[in-house]
Amino acid sequence: MKKLIVANWKLYVNRSDQALKLLKSTVRASKMGSGVKIVICAPFLMVPTVNAIIKRSSISTGAQNLSEGTQGAFTGEVSAHLLKDYGVEYVIIGHSERRYIFDETDEVVVQKLIAASKEGLKPILCVGEQKRVGNWKKTLLNQVSASIKGLDKKYIAKLIIAYEPVWAIGTGNADTPQDAKEAIIEIRKVLARRIGSKAAANIRMLYGGSVTSKNIANFISSAEIGGALIGRASTNPKDFALIIKKTALLK
Ligand code: PEP
Repeated sequence: MKKLIVANWKLYVNRSDQALKLLKSTVRASKMGSGVKIVICAPFLMVPTVNAIIKRSSISTGAQNLSEGTQGAFTGEVSAHLLKDYGVEYVIIGHSERRYIFDETDEVVVQKLIAASKEGLKPILCVGEQKRVGNWKKTLLNQVSASIKGLDKKYIAKLIIAYEPVWAIGTGNADTPQDAKEAIIEIRKVLARRIGSKAAANIRMLYGGSVTSKNIANFISSAEIGGALIGRASTNPKDFALIIKKTALLK
C-alpha cells in the first residue's frame, strides 16, 4: 500500500504567495515520488488555489476542520457539503489544537465524523495523549473509544487514524518509532472491538508529532504505520520535498 503523507499547514501558511510557492514545490516533489499519496490540508480560503495547482498531479486536497452542522445559523462555519462541492477529499477531525484550544469535545468529534462520512469525505481522526505520564495508554484508548462512540461501523471502517501524542506536536520532540508503533497497535485493538479484527487491520494509521525529513523513515518503515501527518515541516518547501523523496524510496 502506498504511504500517505498529510500536510497540515495550520496557520503557518497565511499568505497567498507563500501558499503558491509551497504548492509548486510540492507538485514538483510529488513527481519524484510516484509511490506516495500526498494530501494538502490548507486553510479553507486556499482550497481553490490548492485545487488549481495540484490539478493533474497525484496530490489531493484536504481541510483542517469542518462544522458538525449541515445547514443553518452557524456563523463562520463550513459544512461537509460545501467542502465536497469545492473539491475537498479529506478532512482532519479532532486535531489536538481543535480539542484543547477550541474546546472540541469527543461528542463534537463524533458529530463531525458523522457529518464528513455522510458526505463521502475521508476523515482523518486525530487522537493522542496530552502527557506521557501515569497510565497514558489507558487515557489514549479511552479517547479513541469516545471519539468513535456511536459511529456507524461502516464509517469506522473508512477512517484514517492519526496517532499524535500532543506533547510531540510542534515541539521538535518526536515520539520514538517503537512507542508510536506500540500505541498504534493498541489503538487498532480498540477499533477491532468495534468492527472486527479483519476490518480494523485495513484501517490506515498515521503517526504525527514533529516529523521531519530526518526522522520520517524511522516511522513509516514500519508496516503498522501507513504514513505521517506533518505540520511545521510540511510548510518548509525543501524539507517537505525531502520527506516525499524519502517516503518514495521506502516503498
Ligand atoms: C500536526 O499539526 O498535527 C503536527 C503533527 O504538527 P508538527 O509536525 O509541527 O508537530
